[in-house]
Amino acid sequence: MAKGQFPVEKFQDLRTPFYYYDADLLRQTLQAIQQEAGKHEGFNVHYAIKANANPKVLRIIRQAGLGADCVSGGEIEASLKAGIPASKIVFAGVGKADWEINIGLDNDIFCFNVESIPELEVINEMASAKGKTARVAFRLNPNVGAHTHANITTGLAENKFGIDMRDMLKVIEEADGMPNIKVVGLHFHIGSQILDMGDFEALCNRINELQMELERHHIVMEHINVGGGLGVDYQHPNRLSIPDFKSYFDTYAKKLKLRPGQTLHFELGRAVVAQCGSLITRTLYIKEGSVKKFAIVDAGFTDLIRPALYQAYHKIENLTSNEEPDTYDVVGPICESTDVFAKQIDLNRTHRGDLLAIRSAGAYGEIMASQYNCRLLPQGYMSDEL
Ligand SMILES: *Cc1c(COP(=O)(O)O)cnc(C)c1O
Repeated sequence: MAKGQFPVEKFQDLRTPFYYYDADLLRQTLQAIQQEAGKHEGFNVHYAIKANANPKVLRIIRQAGLGADCVSGGEIEASLKAGIPASKIVFAGVGKADWEINIGLDNDIFCFNVESIPELEVINEMASAKGKTARVAFRLNPNVGAHTHANITTGLAENKFGIDMRDMLKVIEEADGMPNIKVVGLHFHIGSQILDMGDFEALCNRINELQMELERHHIVMEHINVGGGLGVDYQHPNRLSIPDFKSYFDTYAKKLKLRPGQTLHFELGRAVVAQCGSLITRTLYIKEGSVKKFAIVDAGFTDLIRPALYQAYHKIENLTSNEEPDTYDVVGPICESTDVFAKQIDLNRTHRGDLLAIRSAGAYGEIMASQYNCRLLPQGYMSDEL
């Protein structure tokens, strides 16, 4: 979506800041996913709900036929409410509470991605109390690093996630002794915003080794789940608005050796929703300091925390000015020095009242909003409802 393709007229009456989602781009992105994944037998995509759980977004994702990857009981409820069948829901997380496990059991979800033996024991007990069998996959820590921000790597031995891969046979054996557990898969997730296909290749190689070890013990899993992590181009949201799903799925098709009948599951979050969303904010003041100009806007890190949390880059455009560019720091109103969206960026000369679009904000944006400073939560609008 190029600048100018935003329905600026329609924005004028809405309270800023708000999230704007391009429904067409979301549908095109989902179509690309289904088309590229569909070329390979047994590939199943679950949308990682934590990236964006806006019901309007979820409805479009459900219509495209994706399953859901949940990391809390609330996310399972949101998925079911959006109409995603329980048979397509996977449930991960290092700290599943009893009530959350019960939601999974009561709805007969596809799989619990289990991250420790104590958790497995609790799931077994709770399943037994209900006379059910829980389907589980073990989340193994593959000790594969991803070339991404240190705060969003998850597959290294030092991270809190998963079970040490050297314990794989031990945990499978323990699970075999539990009457209300059925082990159906192995699960992995190495991190987020990954653009180097070599990182996914390294994961494939590791899984191939682990599957060979299983084979020596005559164990075959029903499925392998490789998590998510595919990144998007935050620099070029207009030119590269749909991630390279072809390379992503082809990498797995080429490098991962599936066993006959085995299905391969993916949990994509960011790559599905990041580019379709923008945070729309109004300029409150232009403040000229001695060394720089600040564009002070009405959105803050309470609306979009990624820049403050990870120094994340988001492209910013002035939707209502075509004047010669000038250089600004774009900052929010929150009483914290980290409340900065961008430093020293060029924007068309900006005035009080101008609307800015903070791009590529569909993932980990609205869902991470807070009410710090007693602020209102931002609304989210779908393009086809305006
Ligand atoms: C966050 C998460 C994902 C999605 O990650 P993206 O980088 O948004 O694709 C997938 N699986 C698990 C287990 C996660 O925690």
